[in-house]
Amino acid sequence: MEKRTKLYEGKAKILYETDDPNLLIQYFKDAATAFNALKKGTIVNKGILNNQISSFIFQLLEREGVKTHYVQTLNEREMLVKRLKIFPLEVVVRNILAGSLAKKFNLEEGRTLPFPILEFYYKDDSLGDPLIIEDHIRAFGWAAPQELEQIKQMTLKVNQILSAFLLAKGILLVDFKLEFGAHQGEILLGDEFTPDGSRLWDAQTGEKMDKDRFRRDLGKVEEAYQEVCRRITG
Ligand code: UDP
Repeated sequence: MEKRTKLYEGKAKILYETDDPNLLIQYFKDAATAFNALKKGTIVNKGILNNQISSFIFQLLEREGVKTHYVQTLNEREMLVKRLKIFPLEVVVRNILAGSLAKKFNLEEGRTLPFPILEFYYKDDSLGDPLIIEDHIRAFGWAAPQELEQIKQMTLKVNQILSAFLLAKGILLVDFKLEFGAHQGEILLGDEFTPDGSRLWDAQTGEKMDKDRFRRDLGKVEEAYQEVCRRITG
């Protein structure tokens, strides 16, 4: 597989074209940002760990019948993925109250929600990824009604699979963000699943094992990513 021109560089990843128009190479960087890139830093070897974690999770999801963009892991920092026409949506699932939802209602983090809460954000950095409702998605054509239905079903299935899998590894899946895209008429899970885009708490101690350690200057950031990788792949 030949790596060609850079297609897109984001905050934590780079996408390259390949000699196959249907396939892209996704490169994982060490760069870390938070608060819509107001806070910038580096988490040493994050790219390597996130590539490993995401590769493992996407293979697990494929085995469980969730279609993803994952094709294969190429090397330490790169995975081969199917080219997607990405829906401009960030789909967030919350199992335990934390982050922006706790802040919005001035509630303490940590209570288990009575059911998984699904939220949609419009993917636009210049707008700060605003929270949107399903009517916005339909009215502005960001996804068709049946596409949205499928995205919701896939998201809830991913939540079931990963909540159970991670709990068996001693990790609570507090919340996470997914992105989806269309490829040759199919909806596939895209982007990544990593501690950058999820909240993972140690099931015994409640200790944070995700990007909140970076966002909130809690220290031991690299160690947390390493431990997540070790538990998930071990
Ligand atoms: N999230 C993400 N990208 C974003 C916003 C949120 O990956 O642009 C993830 C975040 O890591 C967390 C979940 O989505 O696991 C819910 O995030 P929240 O709305 O609480 O926002 P935060 O306070 O993390 O900015």
